[in-house]
Amino acid sequence: MDYRSALQATGDVAIGAHALRARRRRIMIAIAGIGLMSCAIWLYVRLRPPGSGGADRRYPALLECSECGYAGERNIFVEESFPLLCPECSQRGCHAKWRCLNCDREFLPPVGQLNIRCPHCRSPKVGASPLTNANAAPAR
Ligand SMILES: [Zn+2]
Ligand SMILES: [Zn+2]
Repeated sequence: MDYRSALQATGDVAIGAHALRARRRRIMIAIAGIGLMSCAIWLYVRLRPPGSGGADRRYPALLECSECGYAGERNIFVEESFPLLCPECSQRGCHAKWRCLNCDREFLPPVGQLNIRCPHCRSPKVGASPLTNANAAPAR
């Protein structure tokens, strides 16, 4: 009689341990899931561009409209996509002009091209913004 109840007790303990292990595993999976999710959120926050304000995300550029020939200077937001809305003809025809640092001539870069070269002198030293190039400040 005595040993029987003892056996039952150990069996209960064994079942209890098993249940505990199963519950622990479930908790571990949940923790892993939460960890993965917070990791994703952290990455999302980290990869977002810093600062929600506007000033540092704009850059000045010379624009030329391929529809009506309008040319002018404007601050462009980094997230704006080209071609921009033209203030003259209200069409999406405004492209930012680039300037060659070698021959100092401006040109419209070809769309979808990666290695843009100056169409006049074939120099690869070209920049998107005419106002940030090194030649803007006279050396003399
Ligand atoms: Zn236009
Ligand atoms: Zn050039």
